[in-house]
Amino acid sequence: MRDFRRLLGLMRPYRGLSLLALLTLVLLAALDLALPRLIQRIIDVGIRRNDLSVVLVTAGVMFLLTLLSGVLSIVNNVLSVRVGEGIARDLRRMLFTRIQRFSFRDLDRQHTGQLLVRLTSDVSAVRGPSQISLRIGTRAPLMMLGSVILMFTTSYALALAVLPLLVLTSIFIGYFVVRVGALFRVTQQKLDVLNGVLHENIIGVRLVKAVVRADFEGRRFETANEALTETSVKVAMFMSTMAPILAMCINAGVVIVIWFGGLQSIEGQLSVGQIVAFTNYLFMTMGPLVMMSALANIWAAGLVSSRRTAEILDTVPNVQDAPGAVALDATGATHLVFDGVSFSYGEEPTLQHVSLDVGPGDTLAIVGSTGAGKSTLVNLIPRFYDVTSGRVLVGGRDVRETTERSLVSAIGIVPQATILFSGTIRDNIRYGRPDATEEEVIAAATVAQAHDFVVKLAKGYDTHVEERGTNLSGGQKQRIAIARALLIRPKILILDDATSAIDVETETKIQDALAATSRERITVIVAQRISSVLKADKIVVLGDGRIIASGTHAELMVTSAVYREIYDSQLGVAVAS
Ligand code: ADP
Repeated sequence: MRDFRRLLGLMRPYRGLSLLALLTLVLLAALDLALPRLIQRIIDVGIRRNDLSVVLVTAGVMFLLTLLSGVLSIVNNVLSVRVGEGIARDLRRMLFTRIQRFSFRDLDRQHTGQLLVRLTSDVSAVRGPSQISLRIGTRAPLMMLGSVILMFTTSYALALAVLPLLVLTSIFIGYFVVRVGALFRVTQQKLDVLNGVLHENIIGVRLVKAVVRADFEGRRFETANEALTETSVKVAMFMSTMAPILAMCINAGVVIVIWFGGLQSIEGQLSVGQIVAFTNYLFMTMGPLVMMSALANIWAAGLVSSRRTAEILDTVPNVQDAPGAVALDATGATHLVFDGVSFSYGEEPTLQHVSLDVGPGDTLAIVGSTGAGKSTLVNLIPRFYDVTSGRVLVGGRDVRETTERSLVSAIGIVPQATILFSGTIRDNIRYGRPDATEEEVIAAATVAQAHDFVVKLAKGYDTHVEERGTNLSGGQKQRIAIARALLIRPKILILDDATSAIDVETETKIQDALAATSRERITVIVAQRISSVLKADKIVVLGDGRIIASGTHAELMVTSAVYREIYDSQLGVAVAS
């Protein structure tokens, strides 16, 4: 019921067009129902009484009505397509905006492949019910009802004779609709599974090749593909039985009419014209029955898809501006405090009682083994996730009390996995500030040590970046990402393992250039390489979500055995690279 109301809700902006479409259907049904009567007149009044003028005039009227019917059909088609496509566009827009507002935690819960299916095939299915309803919604039931009534007015006895057959046919179609509906739902699920496998494989095709998992993935795909084929064939087979059974019902009806009607005609109780009109009305009851079965199926599929899109639309973004949230004071952002912060993704705590204080111009480095919680820690600063307990303060204000926009524009984050969009290198650097001047782009690229390699490319800053930056090396992508983060002139710059693919020498140049460009900015560096953090004002060693040591490099060499161990184990590596 809720799904139904939702679907109607989507149609609301198109009330006028929809009403008009339904009106054309009423007219179309009336025209359909008039034709057999005219045929009856041609036979009984024209042909039987040898009155050619009646034949010609009535045939002329029939021709005009058919013409009108054609025009109305076209009008109806245009209207229903407008409404259907309008609904699809609105729904796609609603889904897209909602997904864009998702927090990281919301995104963790969604499967990318499934989100794509929601935006594409589910949207198409949701469009279906409105479109089909506007094409046959009032026409089919009106024709059905009208032709039954007209059958009775044509010949009461004959109508009573075919009534049991009509009832039986309706029951058969009803059963059919229910079965096909169920089968459709199964097909939809299998299609979902297949889409999931396809999506993962297309995204990860390079990895699949690299680790020689093609056979395994091939089998996974085959299973899903086979399952879909099997149910699709089942649906098609089942549906193909409908037409012949229905044809049989209609033919049985015709036999009854000819036999019973013929008998009455011989007795002089029924004219030939009446028998022909009656047969036409009989055909007309069957047509709408088939139409209505299609209507029921499309509604069933539409309701399922509507529920699935609703799951997205009903997701209230996990991170939202609190009522009364204030914009972060642009000048006051340069103070970062973690005050007894704990965080967990699920049951297990990922961070526990982390407290930190970083002042203007300082560089904080975070080291620790993989899985220690380093990325999690920095993701709390721009509120990608909210703390479970404790507070993160930027510029003296709890980040949960600031507006998302002001917070995010104060923070430049370079994530672990570099994300580039298709477009030029310039577009990619300017992504966070499209109005930046050429000088500003070059300045940011220069600090990020990207300028030198960019100008060496044939098209320089106009070089096109392929989807996900496949035509650039890992280190080049990282440098462009750093330039992008710098261009927004962040108060806090977060480099989350953002120099992992850059050689130590270039990394040092980046760090020196960073240090020279802003006295106020806070820089947070997450690093695997100890060489990346030697110059930091404060180094924090994270272990199992807790701070196990902190201080400068020199201090930690004395106070922390863990730090010394990391240093010793990497020293050789650092020198060699
Ligand atoms: P690091 O950056 O130090 O390698 P992370 O912060 O990425 O560590 O991860 C810390 C822990 O949190 C790991 O055990 C990891 O499995 C878990 N984790 C990270 N991201 C998520 C997530 N989105 N959902 C659930 N668990 C996560």
